[in-house]
Amino acid sequence: MELFDFTIHELHEKLITKEVSSVEATRSILARIEAVEPRVGSFITITPEQALADAEAADRRIAAGEADCLTGIPLALKDIFLTEGIRTTCASRILHNFIPPYSATSWEKLRERGAVLLGKLNQDEFAMGSSSESSAFGITRNPWDTTRIPGGSSGGSAAAIAARQATATLGTDTGGSIRQPSSHCGCVGLKPTYGRVSRYGVIAFASSLDQVGPLTRDVTDCAVMLGAVAGYDPKDSTSINAPVPDYRAALTGDVRGLTIGLPSEYFIAGLDPDVQKVMDEAIATYRGLGAEFVEISLPHTDYAVATYYLIATAEASSNLARYDGVRFGHRSEQAEGLIDMMTKSRSEGFGMEVKRRIMLGTYALSSGYYDAYYVKAQKVRTLIMRDFIQAFEGVDAILTPVAPTPAFKIGEMVNDPLQMYLSDIFTIPVNLAGTCALSVPAGFSADGLPIGLQLIGKPFGEETILRAAHAFERATVWHTKKAPL
Ligand code: GLN
Repeated sequence: MELFDFTIHELHEKLITKEVSSVEATRSILARIEAVEPRVGSFITITPEQALADAEAADRRIAAGEADCLTGIPLALKDIFLTEGIRTTCASRILHNFIPPYSATSWEKLRERGAVLLGKLNQDEFAMGSSSESSAFGITRNPWDTTRIPGGSSGGSAAAIAARQATATLGTDTGGSIRQPSSHCGCVGLKPTYGRVSRYGVIAFASSLDQVGPLTRDVTDCAVMLGAVAGYDPKDSTSINAPVPDYRAALTGDVRGLTIGLPSEYFIAGLDPDVQKVMDEAIATYRGLGAEFVEISLPHTDYAVATYYLIATAEASSNLARYDGVRFGHRSEQAEGLIDMMTKSRSEGFGMEVKRRIMLGTYALSSGYYDAYYVKAQKVRTLIMRDFIQAFEGVDAILTPVAPTPAFKIGEMVNDPLQMYLSDIFTIPVNLAGTCALSVPAGFSADGLPIGLQLIGKPFGEETILRAAHAFERATVWHTKKAPL
């Protein structure tokens, strides 16, 4: 094993016993980034000087006996997280030169614990997409098969884990953007309950859906990262003032008596046979561990994608109005007068998918269509939420696939946005309901592509799904497999 292969908890042991220093671990990962980055493209910005300075500070802290579980651990962030003094682009041309004056709370919390910043990770532009192909800074490739997409929108966050270019990363999930790339790249990814983690300093896509979460090599690391970023933040009025449990303590390995629901709407004919097989085997593994399964119904599932693409685009059209060539980023050089300057700045700065979403959302919010589309979508959202409330009356967790297929080929879906939207069918309902869910490695396709399984929890039920994922991980070998890179 190389230093770049270690999990957070493994590296932490080596750091506090002084077997290795954070500087050594950081150098090892920086060298790994340099070696594989041309083949993967996980990063938009690499910050080696910052990383080594952070690592030196961490080593001093460790020497003083003040190490936290994240002190000296090399991390990377999706480029949607504001980082003071470090360029933050959200993978958009419109922010190509934006240097934030402050940092996201989630990153501040990791920094306070002594984490090391390796850089900023590639993603779909403004987190709109499922393949990381819409970035203005080039595509990211799946380390398991570089002809395929890593998933999205947090594609760089997942690829960096699989390519061992970071010990752990942060991503965001508005409709599946942590879980789907985690599934496609064979890492653990968790979308917390809405309000669990502060969104302050995270570039907004759809504010009622966006949530910050970790992508890691195993479930223990996921628990560590979640514990570090969770909690109330007075700077985010939607963050909830509830105590943060010790997530790691929840990993008891015991799922006996746990009741897991299988939604009939998710196990449909037409599911990829490899995905179906992995789900069947996972269910058998859980039965062997003493969990019980019951069939449940989430009857409004069919409406989830349409509902999401009205609400998410409406919120995006409003959030992205601030990129006007004045307040942030790119300003057109060619313009004559204010309106022309704004129009040209936005036309030049935004990519095709972002423009499509702004137009869809503006249409859904326009007078005359507002009731028919936006208000209707809000009502259906309530019905989808109720589906989950009812289902959770009888189960502790819900098990489903993360995505209907393993990672698809680069270029395969770029000209068919609707098909790409539909592939989010299993992840989107969770965001609409505001609850939590994770993806944990559960097997491989016949072609050797990772396939994750999704565990959905009750609101603030992160401990239960982490416990269930950890028990599964202990009973299987999938998380130990490495991308052949
Ligand atoms: N793929 C979904 C979209 O394109 C979800 C993206 C996300 O979660 N940020 O909107």
